[in-house]
Amino acid sequence: MTDDSVTPMMAQYLEIKAQYADAILFYRMGDFYEMFFDDAVAASEALDIALTKRGFHLGEPIPMCGVPVVAAEGHLLSLIRKGFRVAIAEQMEDPAEAKKRGSKSVVRRDVVRLVTPGTLTEDSLLEARRHNFLCAWAEIREEGALAWTDISTGELRVMPCTRPRLAPELARLMPREILVAEMAEASVRDVAADLGAAVTEIARAAFDSAGAERRLCTLWQVATLDAFGAYGRAEIAAMGALVDYLDLTQRGKLPLLRPPVREALGGAMLIDAATRRNLEITTSMSGGRTGSLLEAVDRTATAGGARLLERRLSAPSRDLSVIDARLDSVAYLIEHSALRASLREALRRVPDIDRALSRLALDRGGPRDLAAIRNGLFQAQLIAERMAGNGDAVLQEAAESLIGNDEVISILNQSLIEDPPLLARDGGFVAAGFDPDLDETRKLRDEGRAVIAGMQAQYASETGVQSLKIKHNNVLGYFIEVTATHAEKMMSQPLCETFIHRQTTANQVRFTTLALSELETRILNAGNHALELEKQHFNRMRNLVLATAGTIGIAARGLAELDVAAAFADLASGEGWARPKVDATHAFHIEAGRHPVVERALRRQGAAAFVANDCALTAQDAPAIWLLTGPNMAGKSTFLRQNALITLLAQCGSFVPAAAAHIGLVSQLFSRVGASDDLARGRSTFMVEMVETAAILNQADDRAFVILDEIGRGTATYDGLSIAWATLEHLHDANRCRALFATHYHEMTSLAQKLSGVENATVSVKEWKGDVIFLHEVRRGAADRSYGVQVAKLAGLPEPVIERAKVVLEALESGDRDGGARRKTLVDDLPLFRVAPQATITPARTSVLEDRLKDINPDELSPIAALNLVYELKKAL
Ligand code: ADP
Repeated sequence: MTDDSVTPMMAQYLEIKAQYADAILFYRMGDFYEMFFDDAVAASEALDIALTKRGFHLGEPIPMCGVPVVAAEGHLLSLIRKGFRVAIAEQMEDPAEAKKRGSKSVVRRDVVRLVTPGTLTEDSLLEARRHNFLCAWAEIREEGALAWTDISTGELRVMPCTRPRLAPELARLMPREILVAEMAEASVRDVAADLGAAVTEIARAAFDSAGAERRLCTLWQVATLDAFGAYGRAEIAAMGALVDYLDLTQRGKLPLLRPPVREALGGAMLIDAATRRNLEITTSMSGGRTGSLLEAVDRTATAGGARLLERRLSAPSRDLSVIDARLDSVAYLIEHSALRASLREALRRVPDIDRALSRLALDRGGPRDLAAIRNGLFQAQLIAERMAGNGDAVLQEAAESLIGNDEVISILNQSLIEDPPLLARDGGFVAAGFDPDLDETRKLRDEGRAVIAGMQAQYASETGVQSLKIKHNNVLGYFIEVTATHAEKMMSQPLCETFIHRQTTANQVRFTTLALSELETRILNAGNHALELEKQHFNRMRNLVLATAGTIGIAARGLAELDVAAAFADLASGEGWARPKVDATHAFHIEAGRHPVVERALRRQGAAAFVANDCALTAQDAPAIWLLTGPNMAGKSTFLRQNALITLLAQCGSFVPAAAAHIGLVSQLFSRVGASDDLARGRSTFMVEMVETAAILNQADDRAFVILDEIGRGTATYDGLSIAWATLEHLHDANRCRALFATHYHEMTSLAQKLSGVENATVSVKEWKGDVIFLHEVRRGAADRSYGVQVAKLAGLPEPVIERAKVVLEALESGDRDGGARRKTLVDDLPLFRVAPQATITPARTSVLEDRLKDINPDELSPIAALNLVYELKKAL
């Protein structure tokens, strides 16, 4: 090859690559996907596979790496997880076809799919129990809208969403990929990046609302979108952008997008991103599902149910009638435990119908997906029969949605074997007895020898030549062989009509017949033919399923609904949870509440049982605030969070971990923890704390429930105290909400006398021989002291440090008693108290300034005497 020639294959590669510049191109070559140039360098590093070279381009060797097609999924997943997009270019014809066009001709290749984080459908690339949302955000003038879909289930939702609402909504959905218009403002991109979602910029034209409307009408085959409700321009634009992107990434094969559902603003409890993180609702601080509320309460039996539960927990309802109806179904299934058991038993056999359906729609499905749908619908039918005449309104409605797919079930039952293979191309999934032609073909393929033997016997008797044999070799294929002695008979009338001479050897003469060569072709082709027939059946079954996708989807949704209700019932009866009373008051009364996650963790560790605690905000109307003091490790954070989680569970329609709960509807839930480390985002922890607190003070209304844990901790003592103080006053006077406020500033307990809606509460501890014992009991009243030093001792701080700390504490506390003057000096002098060497622990040294100040009573000083004192002290420095 000359140095700067471009081979036809490379020319093709470069042409395709140019269209997918921002993706890694998987270029199919036989059994491998090959990557070249920069793609190869990036992928070999990301996948830790060998980088080699192949040929030259413009005089330079071409870097190359490859992955076997059979192992491609795992590599795809790694690349997607690492933030890459992958374009898959397949061979679009048989290489033999290309050869026919000439020796220089290259196999036609084309990109069949662009794989991105938000457009995955393979089970191996998805978490079964989690949604994989793709979002698009559009803004037209001041109007904003968010649309989202999970293409692996076909669900599409949309809502108006202004810029300030974007962050909390995205935090709720936790999408994997977010589409924004080119040159969208950095702020929008920051929001997305904060959530760890991929941000994909797409052309502004894709967000054009007129074009979008046309696209959507074509998709759902309606003349106007009004059929699904009245949508604003931004909403249409956001949906249009989604559809456009799916069209692009799926190369024209659109997933089964269900008609849009508009999510009402205000339908769900508002929970911002920081609150979700703090409460560890669907993911724990460490990032996974483990340790989250979701994990602790998830008893669903199906993947679809698990996903619905995740959605519920992410968006508790604000609608009393919805909450009550859901609680009714849970109560019903608790009471009817036999029904629940059989329901859950059947649900356990239900496969992931939604995802199977969507793979079939995208032409990425196989026989196993058909079986999943058949088995799922069959179980649905059994469940519907079991539920007939049972259940409250919600359960009945769900049960009714399960029926009406008899035809699909029956056809799939007849046509599909019990346990089919994953891929259609391997065949072997159509049931025997379904298609006589196929049965015959398979028989030929499998029993070719027996058929030949039958034919040999038939010819032997027809010719009277008992020694006649049918044999096979690679030159002639199948042939009939007789010894030379019978040759003449075979070659004369009437046998020569049937037996055609092929070859004469020394001792044998060989013939064929029309029937034999037909049989031969049929045997040779039988395998291919059987595959072909199976493929046709597969397509028929697939089309049948897709034609009824609507009712299948409705059944899947009904199953998920039943699953969640039964799972909540199972949880409540297993854990002894109680039905909460949720109403329109401002009540907040929890009796013997528990933290579902901490309780579970303690039980697993075999530690002491969780101590249940009441939380009764007695002020009948908001504001009603508990100011919680108590030493570190006493259980303040746990108590705060458990009350927030109980509220959240109640409004999801779940029973709650408490003996009783009466909660006036909560519309916004806020949770903040002082000074959490957020170095990753490069903001000072204190700044984060203040930004987050500001968001509450600016937004909370009288239906908000706020928990604040050690706000102000992130700065100097007096700053912190003043901020905490002012924050509590603001919550009480301006926000007028219900709140639990934990603090280590004992000074704040005096606020209870000043503010009518504030009460003191404390987590009690016992002191025993200088050690603290945590009782984890919350009771009314203020903590007497903070026990910080004792806690430090428990933590294993060296003895000299503990002793020193006691001395300092004593000094500071006596400072408290003399009006704070002495304490102030001490605090300023604190560097003097650095750990002294063990042998020379001395009592606190006092400074000249201190000595002088000790003798002074500020109340008795005249202004001029005070000024003089300042001069004197300054001189003494
Ligand atoms: P604080 O916020 O007061 O520092 P935490 O709420 O973090 O304390 O609780 C510290 C530990 O005490 C928890 O990790 C948990 O193991 C235990 N704990 C908290 N509350 C309870 C309780 N009610 N019953 C039993 N153990 C508890």
